[in-house]
Amino acid sequence: MLGGIRALAAIGPRDAASRASDRAAAYVAGRLRASGYRVTLQPVAVPAGVSWGVRVPAGTTVDVVADPPGLDPTKPHVVVGAHLDTVPQSPGAEDNASGLMVMAEVARMTRQQPGALPVRFVAFGAEEARGGNGTLYAFGSRHFVAGLGAPERRAVRGMVALDRVGVRATAVPVCHVAGADPSLADAIRRAASRVAATRACLNRASDHVSFERVGIPAVRIGSVPYAAYHSSTDVPAVVDRGQLARSGAVLWAWIRSLR
Ligand SMILES: [Zn+2]
Repeated sequence: MLGGIRALAAIGPRDAASRASDRAAAYVAGRLRASGYRVTLQPVAVPAGVSWGVRVPAGTTVDVVADPPGLDPTKPHVVVGAHLDTVPQSPGAEDNASGLMVMAEVARMTRQQPGALPVRFVAFGAEEARGGNGTLYAFGSRHFVAGLGAPERRAVRGMVALDRVGVRATAVPVCHVAGADPSLADAIRRAASRVAATRACLNRASDHVSFERVGIPAVRIGSVPYAAYHSSTDVPAVVDRGQLARSGAVLWAWIRSLR
């Protein structure tokens, strides 16, 4: 996973409207295709705004959607996502190459050993806020959810966002939205109880919120605080191999537990 994180960080900062973001999308799409997924790139319009204090232009990004062959999205399945973009200051090793590469690795494992429920893996464009004092964010995941018909929404049994999953900590954060039903977070922590220490937390700052908003149970794995957050020093050295493995193991245990 570290090789992929180095490759993404080497692209440099990846604002959603930049060519760098397109290069990151192509890299992630290639990884998912190589694992045997049907990958489609869905365009997402993003507005001009201010990202972490820096003016950013309007433009187009993509959601990279990877489906196992033969997926019927109106039948029960789950969604796992991680965001592609970064703030303009940051090469984004932890935020969020870490989430993308844990996702790519678990996607590879899931194709080799499919579970009882199929998994759609999505790299979302434009998660980082572009204004509204941080309230205008998660454009790609909102676009994805808006594109689901009612039968498809009903078929999504749960969604997990992997966002900042590589900074070393004693436990893997498994967070739900304040006021929402914690059942999915509880189920993930139960499934993972033999593979890694986890901790419950509240979080409304990633792509899971777009799903929870329309009634799909959704959780964020990750969010350990770190000094290099949203800065030029968010480089591969901030990411810990063991933490990446533990975050992936938590997700994998949940996927294996689905019935
Ligand atoms: Zn993030």
